[in-house]
Amino acid sequence: MKSYRKELWFEVPTRRAFINITSDVERALAESGISEGLALVNAMHITASVFINDDEPGLHEDYERWLEWLAPHEPVSRYRHNANAAREDNGDAHLKRQVMGREVVVAITAGLLDLGTWERIFYGEFDGHRRKRVLVKMIGE
Ligand code: ZN
Repeated sequence: MKSYRKELWFEVPTRRAFINITSDVERALAESGISEGLALVNAMHITASVFINDDEPGLHEDYERWLEWLAPHEPVSRYRHNANAAREDNGDAHLKRQVMGREVVVAITAGLLDLGTWERIFYGEFDGHRRKRVLVKMIGE
């Protein structure tokens, strides 16, 4: 069995963003030399997500509005986390991450990511302005 590990790094200049990382994962798969197996892709931070959905700007705007409705960033005083954790203002980002998920697992078939027609892999940032990592781990043969 082959095993492959890679970290993808991001420094998002805004507080929140959705980034299509499908081609980064495809590149990692090519590097791995694996043709049959599984790929795990997970955010290594508790205020960021990895999820699969459509690469459609309207949908991403809907996510942004829906997540702000669920867990508005302001006023930051509404979150107990911000009061407890010294100088933090990211209480909303922890909640948004929970909703959008930590990781995805994608099947590898015939050397390709076995995604549905409209499925793309995204990095969801909810507390940007700093360097963050995504782990790609692949196993198979
Ligand atoms: Zn925090």
